[in-house]
Amino acid sequence: RQKEAKKLVNEPSITLDGTKVELVANIGNPEDAKWAVANGAEGIGLFRTEFLYMGRNELPSEEEQFEAYKTVVTMFGAQRPIVIRTLDIGGDKELSYMDMPKEKNPFLGYRAIRLCLDRPEIFKTQLRAILRASAYGNIKLMYPMIATLQELRAANQILEAAKQELASENIPFNTAMEVGIMVEIPAVAVLADQFATEVDFFSIGTNDLIQYTMAADRMNEKVSYLYQPFNPAVLRLIQGVIAAAHKAGKWVGMCGEMAGDLAAIPILLGMGLDEFSMSANAILPARALLRQLTQKDAQRIAQAVLKMDDAKEIRDFVEQAVSAIV
Ligand code: PEP
Ligand code: MG
Repeated sequence: RQKEAKKLVNEPSITLDGTKVELVANIGNPEDAKWAVANGAEGIGLFRTEFLYMGRNELPSEEEQFEAYKTVVTMFGAQRPIVIRTLDIGGDKELSYMDMPKEKNPFLGYRAIRLCLDRPEIFKTQLRAILRASAYGNIKLMYPMIATLQELRAANQILEAAKQELASENIPFNTAMEVGIMVEIPAVAVLADQFATEVDFFSIGTNDLIQYTMAADRMNEKVSYLYQPFNPAVLRLIQGVIAAAHKAGKWVGMCGEMAGDLAAIPILLGMGLDEFSMSANAILPARALLRQLTQKDAQRIAQAVLKMDDAKEIRDFVEQAVSAIV
C-alpha cells in the first residue's frame, strides 16, 4: 500500500472527474520541508514560525528569520506556494525571555496576533524578514487568531510600514504578495463574507476553530468527547466560510488536522475546499483517495451530511459512502 502511494509523489491531486485541488504540507521548521517534498507536497500551506522564537534566550534577528524563510522558499522553486504564518505564541506556548503574563485562560488570552499588535516592533521585524524572502519565490503571508476586522486592518498597516521601509532602503520584495488570515475563531467564520472582501485567502484552522466552537479545550481529555470535527455546527461553519470566500472570488484552504483526515476529505472536497494542508505523511494517502473520488460524489456526500444532526452518524456515513466507491 505504501509502495502504491509512493508512486503518487509526482502525480497531480485531481479527482476522477477533473477537479484539481492543492495538497500541501504543515511544517514547523526548515528540516520538515525536506520531508514534505519527499512526500509529494505541492507547497506549504502552513509554516509555523514559532520554532524561531522558542528554545532560546532572545528574540531572533531579522537576518536569522530571513535566512530560515529563504531556505524553505528556495526548496520549493519559484512557483509553488509557501504560506508563512506570523508568530503564534501565547496560549500553551510560552517564551521565557518575554515576561508573558500568567493567565487564567491562556487560550482565550494574550496570544498570536493580539501579542503582535501590542508589540509592533517584534511584529515588524518578522514582516520585514518575510517580505525580504518573498523576493525568492511564491510566499503568501498569513495572520493567526484574527478576531475582528480592526485587527486585520491594524496588522496590514504595520505590513504597509514594513514595505515602505524596505522600498526606501532599496531592498527587493514581492509587492503583490498575497495576504490571508486563519479562520480559527468562530466570530470570523460567522462574518466570513465581511472578511472575504479584505483578504486574498482564508485558511481554516480547525484545531482551534473546533475548540472555540464547542468550548472544549483541545488538550483536556475530560472533555475530549466534545472535541468533534464532524459536529454539525463545525461543518456548517466550514461550509459558510468556503461559500463566502468563493462568492468574493477568493481561494480557501484548511490547515487544521481535519484537512488530512480521510473521512473529512470527501466532505471538504464536496464543499469546494481549494487547498488541504496537512502533516507530510498524510499527503500521499489523501492523494490516493482524491484520485478515486469524483467531485459529484463528494458533493452528494457533503449535502447529505449537512442535513444530519450527530457527529458519529456523519463520520460513519462518510466512511460507508467512501468504502462503497473506492
Ligand atoms: C489550527 O488552529 O487549526 C492551526 C493549524 O493552528 P495551530 O494548531 O498551530 O494552533
Ligand atoms: Mg491555531
